[in-house]
Amino acid sequence: MTAKIIDGKLFAESLRGRIAGHVERLQREHGITPGLAVIIVGEDPASQVYVSNKAKQTAEVGMNSYKHELPADIQEAELLALIRQLNADLQVHGILVQLPLPRHIDPNKVIEAIDPAKDVDCFTPANVGKVQIGLPGPVSCTPLGCLMLLRDQLGSLEGKSAVIVGRSNLVGKPMMQLLLRDNCTVTVAHSRTRDLAAVVRQADIVVAAVGRPQMIKGDWIKPGAVVIDVGINRVPAPERGEGKTRLVGDVDTAAAAAIAAAITPVPGGVGPMTIACLLANTITTASLINGLAPPDDLTA
Ligand code: NDP
Repeated sequence: MTAKIIDGKLFAESLRGRIAGHVERLQREHGITPGLAVIIVGEDPASQVYVSNKAKQTAEVGMNSYKHELPADIQEAELLALIRQLNADLQVHGILVQLPLPRHIDPNKVIEAIDPAKDVDCFTPANVGKVQIGLPGPVSCTPLGCLMLLRDQLGSLEGKSAVIVGRSNLVGKPMMQLLLRDNCTVTVAHSRTRDLAAVVRQADIVVAAVGRPQMIKGDWIKPGAVVIDVGINRVPAPERGEGKTRLVGDVDTAAAAAIAAAITPVPGGVGPMTIACLLANTITTASLINGLAPPDDLTA
């Protein structure tokens, strides 16, 4: 079997098209323009790129984008004061603080300061709990993107055996909740799992979120499985010239693609879905803040 390569870039583009439609409808029917505020502290180049992309895509779907750039030596209290100000701002429906933060700032304090109603990253304990019990609200962006790709590929996920490799709060754990809600039988593997290859071989669905380049081998994949590779790892690429690098996932894509039914590439798979789902969450929060039901096609 040669796997279908799941085009996350294309799917994200069509998702942004649907999001733009929802923005237009919120404006036309309710006079609401969703607004997303992004806070960046310091000048980490990778974070600068992420934040610029987020701001650009926010504006492209017709939402208001508010960017707050703060110096690396800002006091924690000042950052918390800005978050309180944004919590109270009626034009702002989503607040995102780009991580990582400088060491003198406690990220947990910052996350807990965000009004859960505007927590579009789904980091606050209140929203993590809502996902767990199935209440409406924002859903962790990367797992939501993975879920959308899986539903698009498989239709119903009911009864499928899903193995998630990685148990982080950012990816593995929320992914577990979402797949459970879609009636999968879910196994979460991690660094202490015994015979990981045998565990992965049982899976109709594999979600790899480890952060180790090409760790999951082709012969670990069950024939016909769908493989979602969340990993983003930069590795040396001497074939491209001295000092050059390239991105690879957590799965040996070429080998796995010979066995799987479908697989996401890296780059161009899950990555583009994450920002699109941030925008989807902003529609969800803007709807809920205004007492409206969030659109079904943008959430879990
Ligand atoms: P974390 O480092 O927070 O978690 C990694 C997980 O992998 C941990 O649960 C760890 O287990 C597990 N793990 C580590 N080594 C092994 C091993 N040898 N065997 C089995 N499990 C192992 O990473 P994140 O979840 O934040 O990110 C994972 C990857 O996804 C990274 O490459 C990251 O860059 C990428 N990512 C991509 C995004 C996207 O938009 N595409 C968004 C977010 C992340 P334990 O808990 O036991 O330590």
